[in-house]
Amino acid sequence: MNLIEQLVNIYREKFGYTPAHLVRSPGRVNLLGEHVDYNNGFVLPAAIDLATYAAFSPTNARHSTLVAVDFDQQASFSAESISTRTQADSSPLPEWALYPAGVMWSLMQENLPLIYMNAVFASDVPRGSGLSSSASVEMAFMIAWQTLGGWTLPSMQRALLGQKAENKYVGVNCGIMDQFASACGVENKLLLLDCRSLEWKTIPLPKNISIIIADTTVRRKLTSGEYNKRRSACEEAVRLLQQELPSINSLRDVRVEDFNRLAKKLPRGIEKRARHVVEEIGRSNQAEALLEAGDVHNFGRLMNECHASLRDLYEVSCPELNTMVNIAQSLEGCYGARLTGAGFGGCTVNLVAKEQAGDFSRALAKGYETETGLCPNIYITRASNGAELIR
Ligand code: ADP
Ligand code: MG
Repeated sequence: MNLIEQLVNIYREKFGYTPAHLVRSPGRVNLLGEHVDYNNGFVLPAAIDLATYAAFSPTNARHSTLVAVDFDQQASFSAESISTRTQADSSPLPEWALYPAGVMWSLMQENLPLIYMNAVFASDVPRGSGLSSSASVEMAFMIAWQTLGGWTLPSMQRALLGQKAENKYVGVNCGIMDQFASACGVENKLLLLDCRSLEWKTIPLPKNISIIIADTTVRRKLTSGEYNKRRSACEEAVRLLQQELPSINSLRDVRVEDFNRLAKKLPRGIEKRARHVVEEIGRSNQAEALLEAGDVHNFGRLMNECHASLRDLYEVSCPELNTMVNIAQSLEGCYGARLTGAGFGGCTVNLVAKEQAGDFSRALAKGYETETGLCPNIYITRASNGAELIR
């Protein structure tokens, strides 16, 4: 039985009737431009075919009731209980419920009509692995409330309100990329987003290429602390560089030549972080032309350089990610491989010739297991549409 049938069955058992609607909301993978979204750079993600699905209907109750199948838990909240992060019965909201409740909270601030719902949801996006399960949950509920409320927001607006929910309600300091990709994904296309202007366009994925995601299955704690340290280091670099370059507002505004000239003025630790960002923005600037020309070789080379930079300069990799990338880069048909997402565990993304995808996946899994003793999850994915109602 597939995930959708399961959801509908659980919904029927729980609420006693068939759900009126179903939404599909994807995770995402980022091919280039890592740790640059909060530095106003360019990112190149795609929505993927791993997704969160939610079955939902309007209810006359005075609160929404949500069932998280993957946690085997239920939570309910109302417009009144939202601000105190509590349930209708005054108990605290479980952590997973902060994401959908946060979406309702940010929609309430827009004064959009909101209808209470009964919902059952589940996901095949692995959690905490860099594929943005959180944004996929947010965008699923964004579509659900939009559907019931009878209004429509542009996809970028939905992304921004989801980011606001995660930043201000859940309390996670994420950039805009995750919600953007989940909201704006287009089948078979990569998305190029300018994180400063929020302008974006689609770029065709060259033919005969597979995007393969490899989950190390390693999850490091302390990730958010390290993430915040990286953000602070970037801010500090901007502050120091402004002494020589007063017009800059972010590392996006610093050219590689200027950075090289001024780098010695920065403390080594700050310089390494900033160098990753400045050079990574340089790399992502080359991506569009390479992909338009179908030059997967050189695009893959940029991905490999990105990994080395995340490992040596930004220092957000870990032994398991490095092992997975090293094996991948040695395999036939692999154009590029790197860690994806915030780092410290989670997944790698690999660009592989389509006819080699099966052999590559098997060899990667076997090599990784031999070296680490861990059994990885490998997904041959496709670029997919953003969050949308499927019924
Ligand atoms: P990711 O990189 O996957 O986005 P996050 O730590 O940002 O990792 O978000 C993971 C959190 O999102 C989970 O701890 C949970 O609270 C929520 N979440 C993700 N997937 C689900 C799901 N299938 N059901 C309920 N909550 C989920
Ligand atoms: Mg997340």
